[in-house]
Amino acid sequence: MKVLVAELSQESNSFCPVLTTLEDYRRYGIVTGNAYRQAVKGIRIESEGIFTALEEAGIDYVPAIRMRAQAGGKILPEVYDHLMETIRETVRASGPFDGAFLSLHGATQSTLSDDVCGDVVCGVRELLGPKAVIVSSFDLHANITRRIFDNADFVCGYQTYPHIDFYETGYRASKLGCEKLLGKKHNYMAWCPVPLIEPASGYTTETGAFGAMVARARKTLADGEISDYTVFNMQPWLDVKAGGSAVVVIAEDRQKAAAVCADLAEEYKSIRNLMSPKLFKADDIIKAARANTSGKPIILVDFSDSANAGAAGDNSNVLEAMLGADATDIPTALIVTDTPAVMKAFETGVGNTADFRLGGTRDHRCSHPVAVRATVRSLHDGDFRLEGPSRGLVRHIGKCAVISVGQIDILVTQAMASTGDTGLYRHFGIEPAFYKLVMVKANTSFYASYGSILSEVMFIDTGCAATADLVHLPFERLPRPFYPFDDISSFDVEANVFTKG
Ligand SMILES: [Zn+2]
Repeated sequence: MKVLVAELSQESNSFCPVLTTLEDYRRYGIVTGNAYRQAVKGIRIESEGIFTALEEAGIDYVPAIRMRAQAGGKILPEVYDHLMETIRETVRASGPFDGAFLSLHGATQSTLSDDVCGDVVCGVRELLGPKAVIVSSFDLHANITRRIFDNADFVCGYQTYPHIDFYETGYRASKLGCEKLLGKKHNYMAWCPVPLIEPASGYTTETGAFGAMVARARKTLADGEISDYTVFNMQPWLDVKAGGSAVVVIAEDRQKAAAVCADLAEEYKSIRNLMSPKLFKADDIIKAARANTSGKPIILVDFSDSANAGAAGDNSNVLEAMLGADATDIPTALIVTDTPAVMKAFETGVGNTADFRLGGTRDHRCSHPVAVRATVRSLHDGDFRLEGPSRGLVRHIGKCAVISVGQIDILVTQAMASTGDTGLYRHFGIEPAFYKLVMVKANTSFYASYGSILSEVMFIDTGCAATADLVHLPFERLPRPFYPFDDISSFDVEANVFTKG
């Protein structure tokens, strides 16, 4: 018995104009064969979970390829072609295979295809045939399409947001696959699409209405009524045909799987207007920062420019507002992606002062340059280690520099990654705990590593590619009716629950 393992990851933002190339994947690191197994060993990510469950079950496997890229604009078709060519070659060289265990993001769009992950699952199904066991792990923000449901035996997504269960998700999918391969358990999978999206900054799995719903699902699982569940909240900046959120429930009893799936989908539909963030204006945040004597930072969440959500990271609106409000005396940490400014800092040299233009170099639709005279504090190669979830993993942000305007320290980077992790600032000499105000360009991920050091969280919407103002984005492809654009109160959950197994 033998299983092929492969990973393709990227969260696409349809509204980010910066496309993602095969070269972007190479920069992140493409690994194949045994190097793939070795690269993830001991790191708590999906592929490690997949390999671990296979090893525990005593099932042979062949690692084919691991391809990851930072969230961003749509991928080029060359990325999919490279993955599938490697998988085909692995099948030719090491097949036949009894199954394929995959790790996919689930919200990946290319310039050719709206459903790249569906293409992968279908492509692998065609290669391995109808009897093969195909499972995949996904992000909670995946678009689980009918094609994925039809072609995968089991689908498991993160059960946490902020995401901290990467390894566990891979392990769950792999374990279900192993049990099916070994004939140990017969599970059924139920799937129900729910036509809605929500701003990713507006909810977590630990709080509020969404948290309460997930807690109920957790209890059903803990009580042994079902084998697995995922509430997929499609990442809301994905403009695709057949797009939407979904609930997936896996159970040994077909009726039970369908009933729990319908129940969760109904609740999900009913809480749709309780999942938006409370927004603040820059002036209110500056005022609060000035009055902040807690000894802990206020976290200013500039989520719309989050690289994790595929935005360009090049917005400087908050800096502009602080300069306009004469607020350079407030100890503040800011971050912006701007390659020309990084180069200028390197030319200027540590300790020297120069005129910079910050921001507006990548997404001209929402960002513009802000002129500022700043002193170069430090220069770096831009590699840093994560401190929060996936602790120890190295991320690359090109070259970077810390430049200062009064009490404001600005981390200027060539690229962005894992923007919700404290390691991003700390590694470059900016200790978040020492500031009154710290900007985080993330949606919800930051709670996992900033949770213990923050005094307050204030959300601002700077109108970039990951804005919470979904109704004003130029969506064209989503199926209708669809929330928040239309009334979906007549959507019939019961009629949309499908089962297989
Ligand atoms: Zn996600």
